[in-house]
Amino acid sequence: MVVWVQFPAFPVHFYHKEVLFSLGNMIGRPIKLDYHTQHQQRAKFARMAIELDLSKPLVTRIRLDGQWQYIEYENLPTVCFECGRVGHTSLTCPNLYPNPKDVESGAGRPPPEGQSATTPEEKAGFGPWM
Ligand SMILES: [Zn+2]
Repeated sequence: MVVWVQFPAFPVHFYHKEVLFSLGNMIGRPIKLDYHTQHQQRAKFARMAIELDLSKPLVTRIRLDGQWQYIEYENLPTVCFECGRVGHTSLTCPNLYPNPKDVESGAGRPPPEGQSATTPEEKAGFGPWM
C-alpha cells in the first residue's frame, strides 16, 4: 500500500532528496517526493509517497539531528495509536488489552513481598521449592 507521508515542521536545511529518502527508508519503501517538497517551496512540511508494509507497526517518529521528527500518514483508514498497526483502533487494540484468559491465569506472577528476599543459594538457581 502506497501512502503519502508528511514530516511536519521539517527543518529546512534537511530539505534534500537524499535525506528525505533515507528517512523514507526507515518507514517503508520511498516512491517519490512531493513536487513542491522537491523544489523547496513548502515551508511547513515535507511530503513523500512511501510504500508501507502494513504487517509491521507504523513508524510514528524518527530521530533526526537529536530531535524527534514526527511522521503523519495521509488517508490511512484505521490506525491504532497504541501499537502503530493498521486495521484496528486503539479502542480495540489486541496489544493494549491482552486476552483476559492470560490475565486471570496468574502464571508468571512474582512471589508475595515477604518471599522476595533471596539467599545466595537462591540467586545461584536453587529456589525455595528445592
Ligand atoms: Zn493496536
